[in-house]
Formats: sequence, C-alpha cells, structure tokens
Amino acid sequence: MNQNARGASQAAAATVRRDIQALAAYAVGHAEGGIKLDAMENPYPLPDDVREDIATAVWATALNRYPGDAAALHQAVREAFDIPAQAALLFGNGSDELIHLIVQACCEPDDVVLAPAPSFVIFEMAARYNHARYVGVPLTASLELDLPAMLAAIATHKPKVIFLALPNNPTGGLWPAAAVQAILDAAPGLVVIDEAYQPFADHTWMPRAAEFANAVVLRTVSKLGLAGLRFGYLAGPAAWISEFDKVRPPYNVDVLTEAVMLAVLRHKPVLDRQAAQLRADREPLARALAELPGTTVYPSSANFILLRFSGELGADAVHQALKSRKIWVRAFGGGDALLHNCLRISIGTPAENAALLAALREILGHCTHPAGLAKRSAA
Ligand SMILES: *Cc1c(COP(=O)(O)O)cnc(C)c1O
Repeated sequence: MNQNARGASQAAAATVRRDIQALAAYAVGHAEGGIKLDAMENPYPLPDDVREDIATAVWATALNRYPGDAAALHQAVREAFDIPAQAALLFGNGSDELIHLIVQACCEPDDVVLAPAPSFVIFEMAARYNHARYVGVPLTASLELDLPAMLAAIATHKPKVIFLALPNNPTGGLWPAAAVQAILDAAPGLVVIDEAYQPFADHTWMPRAAEFANAVVLRTVSKLGLAGLRFGYLAGPAAWISEFDKVRPPYNVDVLTEAVMLAVLRHKPVLDRQAAQLRADREPLARALAELPGTTVYPSSANFILLRFSGELGADAVHQALKSRKIWVRAFGGGDALLHNCLRISIGTPAENAALLAALREILGHCTHPAGLAKRSAA
C-alpha cells in the first residue's frame, strides 16, 4: 500500500460506522457464458417489436431534464397491475430501495424489524443500515411458516415493521392467507407484503392494498423479466405512502426507466405469457429433480426451486460440479442452518432445464436412494 492508500484506510476506519465496516458488500455474481440460474431472472428476451418500441421511446427521451412526476407511468402501472383506485402508489429504484425507505421512515434506533427466516436478505440489511434491530423468526424444519412462533415473537418484540415475502425467497413457499391474516391482526406496526414473485403464484393481496390500516403491498418488475431496469412499486393507504414519499430521493426513478417501462407495459401480455411458460415448466422440473438420488424438492410458488441434498454429495460439491459445467445456481454458504445443503435454482428455458437435469443426473448418478418431493402443506 502506498502512503495515500494507507492514510485513506486509517481515515475511513476512524470515520465509517463500525457496524458498516464489519459488513461485506452484497456480492453480485459473475456468470459469463453458460447457463445462468442463480438470480431468479426471466430467461426469455423481449421480442423484436417490443425492443423497437423501447428504442423509439429511448430516442425520444430528453436526458438534459430531471425526471418529472411520472403521471403517465402511474396510470399505466395502475392499469397493467390492477392496483385498486383507492390505493396510493410509490415508485422505487427496484423494490430494494422501497424496502430501505420503509425502514428508514418507520424505525428509530433499536426498533425491531421482523421477518420469517430465512427470507430475503435485504430485509435484514435495511434494518442494520437504519440502526434497527432485526429479528428473524425461524421457519419450521420443513421450511413452512411457524405461525405460533411468529405470533409469540410479535408479542415479545412489538416490531415496527414486519416483512412477509409472498411467495418467500429463498424457499419458494407461499404462506397461507389465514396465517398472513393472523399476522396482520397481531401486528402493532406495519406489515409489508412483498409480492416479488406474485406473477408465478396463484394468489395476490393487491386487490386489498387499500383495505388494511397496517399493511402495504410491494412489487417489482425484476422477476417478471425486467431485472436490469430497476423498477419497483408500493401500493397502500395514502397515509402510509405519503410518509414514505418524504424519504424518497426526489429523482429515484430516472427518465430512461420511465420511458422504457411505458413502452414495455404497452406489451404487457408478452411478459404475462413468459411468466405463464415458467409457471407451466415448474411442476415437471420439480418432479424430475425429485427423482434424483438424495434430493429433496420443496414446493414452490415462485420462478425458482429450492433443493436439499442428503446423499453422499453435499450442496457445496454439487454447486462446484455445476459451476465447472458453467451452470450457475445459488448456494448459501452456511449462513442459515435451515438452508444446510440447499441450492436455489431459477427456472430456465426448457433447454436450460434439460441441461441442468442432465448435469445433475451425471453429478449425482452414483448416489443411491431418491429422497423425493417434500410433503406439501395442507394449505
Ligand atoms: C428479488 C426480490 C426483491 C427485489 O427486487 P428488485 O426490485 O430487483 O430490487 C424484493 N423482494 C424479494 C422477496 C425478492 O426476492
């Protein structure tokens, strides 16, 4: 290290919050070439006619002006995603940003943010950055919501904010509506219903987004096929949305995102068809995966499937073997005991799914005993 760099590290170490210094930055995977099944992306590109409309919209966009109030996009999003007229609406630079803004607006130091665990890692990161205390309530051993434990933790910790990912990431399960209702009834603060994977499920809370005194519904277009764009939206009672709007950076959604969203939403059925294809491919893929030796498949209402390996090869060995074949999936590196020996795999195109299956058959071929499909919950 030269003298400048040394001086900078000393100054940063003396100045930056200790808890931030102790963190690692969110790791964005590097997966060039091969088959990318690690980030719940839609594998299908947009057709040429949509891309031409996008090109035209981008060409017509003035980059010298700050973004305006996006009134046209508000209208288009309301129509495309059936947002109830009574609900207010807020846009974010991805739904990630909206998660941070909600915690920032609600939590004083040491207030509690609560979520089932494991769930989306950004819930915990948002809590930490805002000096809130994160309480993760473990799922059951079969990775279902533990409602009694949730209700007990709510009574004990009186969380300001509860995040429920419906369906849940990284497990794929959709918590029963009655359990969600029980949490809404018990929550002393706000419940954020995060429907990032709603396009792949057969249930949504969106029609009721304005109905609850203490709930808002969060969505993103990322998993629907626009992960590169960074656009999320939050719907709920105006009393909540107007408070979150105060902590939103004024120009958080840029003019290109606005223009491209408007162009793409004119072709919304294309996205719906792609999601329907992924949904249709989910069950056959799950069944085929469950046939593999020593492999448990958890029920999924999302565009990914969680697997657990109980044979001779653990998740790390399978992950490495897939990597060497340039098939990228998500491993969990021992972070959460409930995810021990698990891998999370996005649903790809039929050809990608077939390549994944062929590779796993080869990797696991010499093991014995299929573990099969995990028992589906009654709900
Ligand atoms: C992927 C994901 C998001 C974040 O989506 P972006 O809009 O891309 O920031 C939010 N919630 C859950 C549960 C997710 O898995």
